[in-house]
Amino acid sequence: MTIIDAHVHIGRFMPPFREGSDDFVADLIDSARSVGISRLVVTSLGNRGYTHYPTPQEFRAANDHVLEAMARFPDVLIGFCYVNPRYKEESLGEIDRCIVAGGMKGIKLWISQKASDSVVDPILARAAELGVPVLQHAWYKTTGNYPDESTPADVAAMARRHPTVNIIMAHLTGAGYRGVIDIAPYPNVHVDTSGGDPESTVVEFAVRELGAERVVFGSDAPGRSFGVQLGKVLGAGMEDERRELILHGNVERMLGL
Ligand SMILES: [Zn+2]
Repeated sequence: MTIIDAHVHIGRFMPPFREGSDDFVADLIDSARSVGISRLVVTSLGNRGYTHYPTPQEFRAANDHVLEAMARFPDVLIGFCYVNPRYKEESLGEIDRCIVAGGMKGIKLWISQKASDSVVDPILARAAELGVPVLQHAWYKTTGNYPDESTPADVAAMARRHPTVNIIMAHLTGAGYRGVIDIAPYPNVHVDTSGGDPESTVVEFAVRELGAERVVFGSDAPGRSFGVQLGKVLGAGMEDERRELILHGNVERMLGL
């Protein structure tokens, strides 16, 4: 069976560091394949580490890495374009460069803005025109979110304003049960299964509240282990047809694969 991981990161700062090479990406792909994952949706959030508010120069350089990696592993990697909506014109230009010209298949929004902020609207409008999904970070943190970090309620607000855009809300086990309930009324929002460690019944809860069509497998590797994260889906109680939607069918539909 094909298994597609909808949430993976690469970065030039990630080990192993070997002069003049980018072995990290090859090692990551080997690691995914070792547990049966054949295709990876990848983003880069920066070349030198994670900057919460990347400049256009920084997000372009991050996307350059993804374009390079896609060219090297075209049968495995599917790139999403990372932008900072606070730079509207530069972000729209970058979406054209990466998606229209470069073959990426979606947009990644992280923590430079809340999803409920109207600053994201031009980006979502462009996603609607292009028919590509938006992978939006979200979390409910007991320690408090970063100032511009979205909660699932923020994602719900974005979805309400942009009902024709397929949104993938990241981190089921960061959003939790409350996060699933927040997005349930908006059929254009999906949730990926990444986040914390596996937790009994949380995937089944998402399937019951949202339908299997709105749940996608994502690991958030290399921050999390491919195998442990895949175990959340393989170990959840459900019919095989539903599990297949989560492991590949839903992403194939959204990306037109
Ligand atoms: Zn992530």
